[in-house]
Amino acid sequence: MTDSPLRLRLNAAALTANWTLLARLGGKAACGAAVKANGYGLGARGVVERLAATGCRDFFVATWAEARALADLDVTLSVLHGVRAEDLADRPRTARPVLASVEQVRRWREAGGGPCDVMVDTGMNRLGISAQNVADGLLDGLAIETLMSHLVSADEAVPLNGRQRDAFAALAGRTSARRMSLANSAGIALGKDYHFDLTRPGIALYGGRQRDAHAGIRQVVTPEAQILQRRRVTAGETIGYNATFTAPHDMEVAILNLGYADGYLRCFSDKGVAHAGGAILPVVGRVSMDLTALCVDAAPDLGEGDWVAMDYALPETAARSGLSQYELLTGLGARFDRVWA
Ligand SMILES: *Cc1c(COP(=O)(O)O)cnc(C)c1O
Repeated sequence: MTDSPLRLRLNAAALTANWTLLARLGGKAACGAAVKANGYGLGARGVVERLAATGCRDFFVATWAEARALADLDVTLSVLHGVRAEDLADRPRTARPVLASVEQVRRWREAGGGPCDVMVDTGMNRLGISAQNVADGLLDGLAIETLMSHLVSADEAVPLNGRQRDAFAALAGRTSARRMSLANSAGIALGKDYHFDLTRPGIALYGGRQRDAHAGIRQVVTPEAQILQRRRVTAGETIGYNATFTAPHDMEVAILNLGYADGYLRCFSDKGVAHAGGAILPVVGRVSMDLTALCVDAAPDLGEGDWVAMDYALPETAARSGLSQYELLTGLGARFDRVWA
């Protein structure tokens, strides 16, 4: 297979250093890893292999299809969306559901039960049974590995964090659960009252920074694209769809094999930046489906076949584009070769 003209450069040392930092911030709690949505766009298999080798034991996916894709790796998977009737037939032995509704608990019991996790809702109103369900005995007799809840606004300093923590802590000893787990990446930064027995970071593993405690988190992902051609655009001519950019002077332009179908969305039109050597190369005109134009006046030697690195520093790129750090990663498309180094 020939290499794609588009690649994600993935820094394995940064990924494992981020996990190690989050594990340390989490104190005595074990540190897991959320690898749903194909490892936040990086490629779940590559992420799981590297984190498992670093000591991570608990991995979280959204669906059974995601679990099946990782079933040959010798790691424990929790399926956050629980279990539908159609999931019961083909379950990898390494995965267990995170039961998240009264119906799912009933379904799991009728199917013979077995080890499971349970999500309790403490304010998200998304997935999860209620604390009242627990008090009413819904979980009695279930073999629960981890009891979980999920924070609404862990990336903000708001009173709801403390209320959710207290509601969750009140469930200690009320179920058969061996462990309790509340904190995602931002929740780990809220301090030891939030750590319980197991943490579930996602975005910070992949370079996302949301709180001061994440200052040591390193960038993992760099999108790189090949130049398909270089051309001269004379003053007054326009570049790209709808002629939104007019060359203010004669300009050197490089056309990249990268576009919104790859997750490099139109919000980067006239806003994105690429780098080659030391040169800073701004995006000019609209991002197309498969192509993006750069001004390369600053890089006289750059030409067809050369590679440029897109500026993708997560917090800064999120602020510039209006996309969240999560969207920046999970939108990265299937046409990228994912290259670990
Ligand atoms: C996605 C997810 C996480 C990870 O969240 P981050 O903000 O990416 O750290 C943890 N727990 C649950 C239930 C999730 O859905």
